[in-house]
Amino acid sequence: MSLVVVGTVAFDAIETPFGKTDKIIGGAATYSGTSASYFTNNIKLVSVVGEDFPKSMIEQFGKMGLVTEGLQVKEGQKTFFWSGRYHTDMNTRDTLDTQLNVLLDFDPIIPESYQDCEFLMLSNLMPRLQKTVIERMHKRPKLIVMDTMNFWMDTQWEALLDTIAMVDVLMVNDSEARQLTNEYSLVKAAQKILTMGPKQLVIKKGEHGALLFNKEQVFFAPALPLEDVFDPTGAGDTFAGGFIGHIAQSRDISFENMKRGIIYGSAMASFCVEKFGLERLIGLSQEEIDTRVQQFIDLVQFDIELV
Ligand code: AMP
Repeated sequence: MSLVVVGTVAFDAIETPFGKTDKIIGGAATYSGTSASYFTNNIKLVSVVGEDFPKSMIEQFGKMGLVTEGLQVKEGQKTFFWSGRYHTDMNTRDTLDTQLNVLLDFDPIIPESYQDCEFLMLSNLMPRLQKTVIERMHKRPKLIVMDTMNFWMDTQWEALLDTIAMVDVLMVNDSEARQLTNEYSLVKAAQKILTMGPKQLVIKKGEHGALLFNKEQVFFAPALPLEDVFDPTGAGDTFAGGFIGHIAQSRDISFENMKRGIIYGSAMASFCVEKFGLERLIGLSQEEIDTRVQQFIDLVQFDIELV
């Protein structure tokens, strides 16, 4: 069993109502890979950084069980940089700056040792690069999950639709689902997206949970009501990592098992938001994760007798 995770490895600068960071380590693949590492080992990273990226973090990836043979380090270039500011509701944010830097001429190389991969997580990245990765796999993985964001809808529409058509599961947030389809109703938006290629769709709704659709069924999971939400950055990617990590570990791609994936993803995301950046996600214990999952079970369980 193996999982390839593709996406940005980045520097982020974040402002929330509770504080502000200078450049800290972020990136979609960083969050997804870290989160997935609690479920499965042998996670293979495909990404690129500049020479300004700390070697100690690459070593940290190794300690978490992420294989970094496919992480290119480009001398003389700068790492992808993203900066964002959250609104007081902490559910919405403005992107202040996106500097593609090293991503601009990134040519993803898939090492031979990655070719046996059964599960592919296309975390947020330029859609044409996500497509290149699919095309460079000698054998199509059993399940391809893709995450994307409004930035690519605004700038690379055609390439985005092309890539969406090739994947099994698409993950977007509610406003991105609306932007992608021009539909306000998420049910109508889901129906449209499910004609674009993906067989399953996950719509993330931040603190309001997540929906999983296929053509016949829908499943909803809440987010844990948390006392302190400090920084939502990476929550979507962390969610994706828990989802695909669980699926890769169980090797079961049924809708029923995806429901469990949604719960694991939501549990991991609930940790992510409690501190800035990756801080809360590194060094979690199995017991902490199990306790969170149990909280989800307790949150939604009720008895009812229909007469
Ligand atoms: P999330 O909060 O889950 O949407 O993910 C935030 C992470 O995505 C940050 O760590 C950023 O470095 C990264 N990111 C922001 N914009 C982009 C983009 N256009 N493409 C890829 N990754 C991005």
